[in-house]
Amino acid sequence: MSDFRVYAIRYAERDAVRGEHFHGYDARAAEPHPTSYYVWLAVSDQHTVLIDTGIAPARAAGIAGLRYRTSPVNALAALDVTPDAVDHVILTHLHYDHTGTAHQFGNAKYVVQDAELGYWTSHWPARVIRESWLLEDEDLAHLQEAETDGRLLLATGDMTILPGLSVHLVGGHTAGMQVVRVRTAVGTFVLASDASHFYENIEDDRPFPILSTMTGTYGAFDRIKQLADSPDHIVAGHDPLVLDRFPRLTPDIAVIAG
Ligand SMILES: [Zn+2]
Ligand SMILES: [Zn+2]
Repeated sequence: MSDFRVYAIRYAERDAVRGEHFHGYDARAAEPHPTSYYVWLAVSDQHTVLIDTGIAPARAAGIAGLRYRTSPVNALAALDVTPDAVDHVILTHLHYDHTGTAHQFGNAKYVVQDAELGYWTSHWPARVIRESWLLEDEDLAHLQEAETDGRLLLATGDMTILPGLSVHLVGGHTAGMQVVRVRTAVGTFVLASDASHFYENIEDDRPFPILSTMTGTYGAFDRIKQLADSPDHIVAGHDPLVLDRFPRLTPDIAVIAG
């Protein structure tokens, strides 16, 4: 049984300020604090797994200040991965910047937490209107079609998807936020995605402002630390530092584990 090789692939960047990224009062709220947008690829001798699918080109075109280098689907070509080669697409949660190209992976089985799909199909999103922009209705409809076609795996809590690769419900950021744990030749990593957008969120115990529950957000920090071999085995979801903490294959691809 082979270990996974893991890559973080940045496909977009946006200028922002600290106040957008840390809940509550921050004396440095107006300071620049750019955000990066990634998808993650885990490849073994038997499997090609994409973790999250980024922003769709059409939606990206309408986002002010977003520097959208390329569609995540095109970005995979740098690693010689075609969409049809992807056998599993794990969606850490259903925000638009994680689901936008999911429909382009026609051979993949999708993995979503039951609690996440349940939230977005409940009456709550219509009520929490300040977060309605975070869901793309077409992406949700596509996942519901995939469920009808038997291509959607609804996880409940902790679930091993493949030998050496598992998902873990942590909540906090969204109702059914999950992180991915993956075994590599250099240890077991956790792809935190939006359970810790930036290293500063988890390392300084400072939640991101978009959240489902505050206690869940702190609990997610604890769970990620338990699941990873060390703090160096945690991959933050939107942090430009990922490309500094890990070696680069290209200016936009970090090798988490080669
Ligand atoms: Zn999110
Ligand atoms: Zn995100």
